[in-house]
Amino acid sequence: MKYCSLSSAIRAGSALGPQAFGEWRDDNGATCALGAAAAAELGAEYEGGINLGEFWPYGDTARTFCPKGCFPYSNVHVFGLVVHLNDAHKWTREQIADWLESEEEKLGFVTLVEPGEERELATVSA
Ligand SMILES: [Zn+2]
Repeated sequence: MKYCSLSSAIRAGSALGPQAFGEWRDDNGATCALGAAAAAELGAEYEGGINLGEFWPYGDTARTFCPKGCFPYSNVHVFGLVVHLNDAHKWTREQIADWLESEEEKLGFVTLVEPGEERELATVSA
């Protein structure tokens, strides 16, 4: 696993090409936020049917809410909200990564960076 957090993978993937809306990756190679994360983690030639929960399980388990206050998005999984911000609010993937990074901290996932070491994802107990 190359990226210890979904936010860092989205950020890295957004540098690989333009943004797509409504699909993970379009015919021109543009990617939505989750498609960008997949491209960063797996390379641009990844095939469909990827379960990103294998890499960042909290995307499937942790619940959060839309920062814009959309009613149906008041208690949804992180992955679903990332798609919502990408497709409904047309946030840039960098904006989504910034928001997600603060969510990851609130949810108890912090990025630990040791000089010269692989980054690890740690769960902090309250
Ligand atoms: Zn919303």
